[in-house]
Amino acid sequence: MEYPMRIAGEAVKSSHSRTVQLPYDGSAVGTIFEADPAQVVVAVASASAAAHVMREMTLHERAAILRKAYLKLLERADIFAQAISSESGKPIKEAKLEAERSALTLLFSAEEAHRLTGEVVPMDASPAGKGHWAMTVREPLGVIAAITPFNFPLNLSIHKIGPALAAGNAVVHKPASATPISAVLLAELLLECGLPKGALNVIMGPGGTIGQQLVTHKDIAMITFTGSPEVGLHLRHLAGMKRVTLELGNNGAVIIMPDADLDEAVARCVAGSYAHSGQVCISVQRIFVQNDIRGEFLDRFVAQTEKLRVGHPFEASTDISSLITEIEAERVAGWIKEAVDSGATLVTGGARNHATLSPAVVIDVPATAKLSCREAFGPVVGINRCQTLDEAIARVNDSEYGLQAGIYTRDIRTAFQAARRVHVGGFMINEIPQYRVDQMPYGGVKRSGTGREGPKYAIEEMTEPKLICWKV
Ligand code: NAP
Repeated sequence: MEYPMRIAGEAVKSSHSRTVQLPYDGSAVGTIFEADPAQVVVAVASASAAAHVMREMTLHERAAILRKAYLKLLERADIFAQAISSESGKPIKEAKLEAERSALTLLFSAEEAHRLTGEVVPMDASPAGKGHWAMTVREPLGVIAAITPFNFPLNLSIHKIGPALAAGNAVVHKPASATPISAVLLAELLLECGLPKGALNVIMGPGGTIGQQLVTHKDIAMITFTGSPEVGLHLRHLAGMKRVTLELGNNGAVIIMPDADLDEAVARCVAGSYAHSGQVCISVQRIFVQNDIRGEFLDRFVAQTEKLRVGHPFEASTDISSLITEIEAERVAGWIKEAVDSGATLVTGGARNHATLSPAVVIDVPATAKLSCREAFGPVVGINRCQTLDEAIARVNDSEYGLQAGIYTRDIRTAFQAARRVHVGGFMINEIPQYRVDQMPYGGVKRSGTGREGPKYAIEEMTEPKLICWKV
């Protein structure tokens, strides 16, 4: 099946077609068309024209489109789940959850359109403000370039597109080259729900050429990017005066204290380490377990990990399927070997079959190993010892990243001391760092990025407060 781009509401092909493959076995999923430079220019021009239309639409009209899209996406959840699983290799049961979450992200965006408001400014708090009243209104920015990664191809796209449209912007979306199909299906769905032509354009092609041409176009007002820190930093350097939000990587850490509920901690940490083969930006990658319970935690963790079913992503019972490419699986296997060569022990897993890697547990990973200090983005977790809370917090903070982290403890003071001292964008008590609901503020510190997503917070990033002042 062919999946043309969407420019100015039309299905558009080009002379550069490419086959999208199922990462698990390389089988063909569909044909897509990569933009040529002239088509990028047309996409931005079409968005610029539509931005005027979007800006004039009432909040009620924008919210109605997004609410219709929420209902339609729920109706088509199975079709979207199949597309997500096919292009990304995500196990079908996780792809279904992503489709359902994506619908909710549209609903939250619709609701936030109703809440788009400014504030009254207390002008006469200054002597010179006497007799003046003022208010702010939030205005859309214009055309937003949305660049998205492969790991949540639908929901992370909607986290940009939903709030952008709710706020009255137009969008040019460049999805990851590996996972462009759900983006096209989403654009079709929004058009069916009454979105003006050109308000959402989807172009495909390599990030280094087509993506870069898009973000450097003079008519782009904002770049909203989710992906790797390397590309994110590069885009920030290119951005000039454009507004930029960056949702980047992490090496998610969780602390397990001796008074933790071990049943819950083990089950949640296993889930958080291996969902989508660890290709989740808030995946559990580093676990710091207090020495007194380390043996018991490890035994239970390994036993549960070994029960996970590795297999084809379309099978309902599959827990772990392939990584996005064989090269990525080789890289992660190489990082496990590097950790073992530097003193760690591989307790289970780590066997590679093409792009698939069995879930691995590595213990006592040196802080200098890549498996500790970089983002693994694979089905592997390091379980490490610690003695005190201070030591555990220091090791969690010993990271270039700071997206989310967590602690398991029944002691409220311990929990809140950790919450206060761990330097991250979100901290979870008795929950894994991989926990996210789509309306919460979400984003990182340090190399994990700048800005926040979650429709309410993304809308703040995607609008400009304009002051209107009058003398009474
Ligand atoms: P990536 O390689 O950085 O790619 C992300 C997107 O950027 C893709 O659409 C890519 O296009 C595009 N791109 C690459 N180079 C570009 C350039 N020079 N100019 C413009 N666009 C460019 O990331 P990925 O491998 O898809 O995703 C994995 C990363 O995303 C991990 O680091 C993960 O932590 C991060 N992530 C973060 C969050 C978060 O919310 N913080 C969520 C999910 C994922 P091509 O595909 O064509 O290269």
